Amino acid sequence: MGKKVTPLMGQYNSIKAKYPDALLLFRVGDFYETFGEDAVKAAGILNITLTARNNGGDMTELAGFPHHSLNTYLPKLVMAGCRVAICDQLEDPKQTKKIVKRGVTELVTPGVALNDDILQSKSNNFLAAVHLGGSRIGVSFLDVSTGEFLTSEGDAEYVDKLLQNFKPSEVLFSKQKRRLFSETFGDNFHTFYLEDWVFQTDYAVETLQKQFGTTSLKGFGIDTLENGVIAAGAALHYLGETRHDKLGHITKVNRIAEDAYVWMDKFTIRNLELYHSTQENAVTLLEVIDKTISPMGGRLLKRWLALPLKDSEAIIKRHEVVSFLLDNQDVLEKFQQHIKHMGDLERLVSKAATGKINPREVVQLKNSLEAVVPVKALASDSKNESLRLIGEQLNACDELREKVKATLFEEAPVNILKGQAIANGVSEELDELRSIATGGKDYLDAMLKRESERTGITSLKIASNNVFGYYIEVRNTHKDKVPEEWVRKQTLVSAERYITEELKEYEAKILGAEEKILILEQQLFVNLLEWLQQFIGTIQHTASLIARLDCLSSFAVQAREHSYTRPLLDDSFDLDIKEGRHPVIEQQLPPDAPFIANDVFLDRDNQQIIMITGPNMSGKSAILRQTALIVLLAQMGSFVPAGAVRMGCVDKIFTRVGASDNISMGESTFMVEMNETASILNNISERSLVLLDEIGRGTSTYDGISIAWAISEFLHEHPSRAKTLFATHYHELNEMTETFERIKNYNVSVKEMKDTVLFLRKLVPGGSHHSFGIHVAKMAGMPVQVLHKANKILKRLEKSHASEELTDEMRNMSKEEMQLSFFKLDDPLLEELREEILDIDIDTLTPVEALMKLNEIKRMLQRNASTKSKK
Ligand code: ADP
Repeated sequence: MGKKVTPLMGQYNSIKAKYPDALLLFRVGDFYETFGEDAVKAAGILNITLTARNNGGDMTELAGFPHHSLNTYLPKLVMAGCRVAICDQLEDPKQTKKIVKRGVTELVTPGVALNDDILQSKSNNFLAAVHLGGSRIGVSFLDVSTGEFLTSEGDAEYVDKLLQNFKPSEVLFSKQKRRLFSETFGDNFHTFYLEDWVFQTDYAVETLQKQFGTTSLKGFGIDTLENGVIAAGAALHYLGETRHDKLGHITKVNRIAEDAYVWMDKFTIRNLELYHSTQENAVTLLEVIDKTISPMGGRLLKRWLALPLKDSEAIIKRHEVVSFLLDNQDVLEKFQQHIKHMGDLERLVSKAATGKINPREVVQLKNSLEAVVPVKALASDSKNESLRLIGEQLNACDELREKVKATLFEEAPVNILKGQAIANGVSEELDELRSIATGGKDYLDAMLKRESERTGITSLKIASNNVFGYYIEVRNTHKDKVPEEWVRKQTLVSAERYITEELKEYEAKILGAEEKILILEQQLFVNLLEWLQQFIGTIQHTASLIARLDCLSSFAVQAREHSYTRPLLDDSFDLDIKEGRHPVIEQQLPPDAPFIANDVFLDRDNQQIIMITGPNMSGKSAILRQTALIVLLAQMGSFVPAGAVRMGCVDKIFTRVGASDNISMGESTFMVEMNETASILNNISERSLVLLDEIGRGTSTYDGISIAWAISEFLHEHPSRAKTLFATHYHELNEMTETFERIKNYNVSVKEMKDTVLFLRKLVPGGSHHSFGIHVAKMAGMPVQVLHKANKILKRLEKSHASEELTDEMRNMSKEEMQLSFFKLDDPLLEELREEILDIDIDTLTPVEALMKLNEIKRMLQRNASTKSKK
């Protein structure tokens, strides 16, 4: 108690108390210091030395780095998930005798960053706020570095999907909802909680209206999203809390219209490896198709991929542009050439709005806009209507460019304090001061010459240093020739330094001029930035149009380089892919192994469900995924890797992949897999596309086949008649076609050689008759003994016709509506089960309940089996 602390530490403690959750970088002289726990953490992350200082009897840990290294160290701290409060000296230490005034000037958090070293150019850096309102959950995404601000609301699954899509760097929620948040969305986010009062409608509406200068939120189409509004308000509030008050670039908040985009749940997004992959080194679709030139184009492409369109008119407009660009390669090339010169227009303008732009970047902004001029002309003149519309709206801000050109030197420095930023002729006062400051050099030379001649000292030198200012230096050999009126200031080993009246006067004039120049340049630059603010909205709009143009050009380049074709969208429910290819795999195969293209046709009348059988590694998954990717690319507005595609728009894509082995996953994971599958069954519509890859594989053959069978039957009988591809290595499922008219069998053909199989990778009609697992194991280098044994067992199994019996039985039962009893019903337990099953009211049972029931039954059987074996 009552330990004495130094005044500096006292100041530190009081500031730290205001930012308990942040790592405080405390500026002391030329260093940023951290203390205590912060120091331990910083030293660990930054790999800098941790020392200890004696702080009035108490040892305090200490770690610091030079202030000019802030740009190196700050990103590392933020990327490690730290919130960093930067505490600066608020006054010039020379001007005060007391302790220097200090205060936090910026709070940098993972989701709120403007620093180029933290931001990735082709990714947004989103801050998300989530409001768990009850049945509906509000969510908003804000990128302070680009000014993009989006909001939406929906159920937990929808919000979870958006969180997966937008990958926010930081997620905010209310303090009271901490548990609920992690239960609903997991713990894989950098999170931060705010006080509960922030999450209130009135406060949110007020905060948003104040930002946008409006009296209602109707214009943004979000007034009916109560939870979305609260989330948006919280995100904006947080910017204020982190000391970001210049937010002129956040001019609107857009609603993410849930029903405008193809629905993909998170399994599908993950499974299709659209823009990230769980596997290291895996190539994603985005990497393959991204031919954008500008960072804002790259970010938009990612958005388009996450949110493919459902409105065929809008999609066709994009296709038309791509078509036009392919037919007019010269226009395409010119677009790309000019876009190359634009840099990150979107982030530049955000920096201008937040006052964090430097003189060199303002020149860059001007040059970016310069490049808009020819793009505007080209687009306006084009024969494509959408391009003309873009051309009309592009604004190269002539007035702004003129002004910047007149105000700043083309080679303006990054740091305004370096001087030579403001051009000549902007301010008379500045020009005059500059002529004094630079004219001085000649003046000094003249003085030196004059004094040498007068005194006869040949080695005179005039120079200056920080301590004594200007001086004349005389080597010791000439000491005796020094005139009396010179005043000695400093003695060195071999020379003496003097000042003269004339030098003193000169110095005052020069120093005054230099200081005044710096102040004046800063002032003029600030004025320029203030004047620039009126253009923020216009430049943002232009940047977004350039991003569009960049994406559409990217589609055209991709189509040209990889022979993509234009998909034909119609009102049908069909999906007719001729010669389809997998966009990622085809680019990774070695040149001597060409990709084998395949046709896939699905409709609601004859061929609703395709059962694809074939051995492992034959290419079943590839066909499933390429079908989804072709649909996605088409609906993003891109051309597609296929010979020809005709399709009606798809509204939802569901993908499920069965876990590969039940030993590692355990029963509960199996149930999770089943529940996930069940969620598809609850949500399909007549325009949905369902891809099931080896569902049911993670269990015993009997269970696997029956589950796969039940799901397929359900999809077939469901009124939506959703288009479905089902890959399976259970050839037993081929029997389904005999009972269900819209199920068709296909297999990925292979050629059996003596001891191996040759993968032909061609999807052909018809089922397959037996598994090839052993062949594949051989190819994978399994020991011969193991293979031999496996072959023997297989032979025996085949002889006993176990699987044929099974399918015969299933076929019969299916007809009699008793899918689940595969056993002889003489066991009392089975009698009991039978009663139970007969009691089930199929008409009211949801698919989830059905699967739960199935699981329950399975467990009863297992219990019975194990008690029997104990007896
Ligand atoms: P399965 O799902 O049947 O086990 P995959 O779809 O995973 O098989 O395919 C196995 C591998 O075969 C893929 O990784 C890919 O490299 C290659 N492959 C698949 N389809 C083709 C194709 N049509 N043309 C060329 N190679 C292919």
